[in-house]
Amino acid sequence: MTVSAAQAEVVVDLAAVRHNIGILAEHARGADVMAVVKADGYNHGAAEVARAALAAGAAEIGTTTIGEAVALRAAGIDAPILCWLNTSDADYLGAVRAGVEVAVPSVAHLRAVTAAARTAGAPAAIALKVDTGLGRNGVAAAEFPDLLAELGPAVADGTVRLRAMFSHLAQADIPRHPMNGVQRDRLAEAVATATSHGLRPDRVHLANSAATLTRPDLAFDLVRPGIAVYGLSPVPEFGDFGLRPAMTFRARVTLVKRLRAGQGVSYGHRWIAPRDTTVALIPAGYADGVPRTLSGRFDVGIDGARYPSVGRVCMDQVVVDLGDNPAGIAEGDPVVLFGGDPGQPTAQEWADTLDTIHYEIVCAPRGRAVRRYVDG
Ligand SMILES: *Cc1c(COP(=O)(O)O)cnc(C)c1O
Repeated sequence: MTVSAAQAEVVVDLAAVRHNIGILAEHARGADVMAVVKADGYNHGAAEVARAALAAGAAEIGTTTIGEAVALRAAGIDAPILCWLNTSDADYLGAVRAGVEVAVPSVAHLRAVTAAARTAGAPAAIALKVDTGLGRNGVAAAEFPDLLAELGPAVADGTVRLRAMFSHLAQADIPRHPMNGVQRDRLAEAVATATSHGLRPDRVHLANSAATLTRPDLAFDLVRPGIAVYGLSPVPEFGDFGLRPAMTFRARVTLVKRLRAGQGVSYGHRWIAPRDTTVALIPAGYADGVPRTLSGRFDVGIDGARYPSVGRVCMDQVVVDLGDNPAGIAEGDPVVLFGGDPGQPTAQEWADTLDTIHYEIVCAPRGRAVRRYVDG
């Protein structure tokens, strides 16, 4: 008995990930590359992407939580891993035991990490996260002196290793925005202050994808790209930088049929066939990651041509209009919802239509959509 292929699937091209790491490394001009694989690798699969990125020369891996980082260790990733958003009661003992570096954005976090290191009898690797203007995570300027005062003895007695100081940009997708230079200078200043207290970080980092590709002056010792690893341009108006999208969201035609002029299609009959026509049923809906707000506002790609969706996107399915179906589209034919090959619909198109960013689009496929890997 053969197992039938998934009705909806997310195909991830690991050769594209390796290619994109190469492009990022070129732009980093000697700085190391940390591949960010938070949120399950932007929904591409954290462990698989991390392995491909490291094979292509990335030096480190970045995640959001300790849970994500420890799962990568369990999957056999032994490169340095940093995680940067944890409550102060998170499992720091688990992080220390797994050799995972944690970001410290406050005195409370530092106390939790040093307590875990003492319990483990092993040093904790930390990255001091500085708020240089994003106004989100990171130690605020007012708390910085207190943090340095507590960090000093912990580093001196070997409880903590200051592996990095870092910060995150607020305006990186506007490369010429003056805030980028301001944050660079504030980070350099914070590093100088720490160093004057005898606290010299092993490395300093600031740049996300956009800064890596457009602002070499922000690279410091290491760059921290996420979205560009997956092949999506962080500054679309600057072009694609030669990146290759790694994700293709696909399905297979479930049914093809003729409709008479005047027949309404899908819930609410929001589309009425203006002429006799042929429609195809695609088995992917909002439960699989096709937003209902896209109803009637996107095309799918079938065999190199594009066809408009018509009527409501439902929980499980969507209908597209094939017209007179000159290409002879048939049940079982592969359909691209979005992908990266020339002429195909893209995540950027969905983002433009929905007034959002492609980051959110690639995070959408879920539910019954089965992930599968290809290589080239
Ligand atoms: C998500 C994230 C990144 C990567 O950002 P991209 O815009 O995807 O390159 C880098 N650093 C931090 C702290 C992040 O949260």
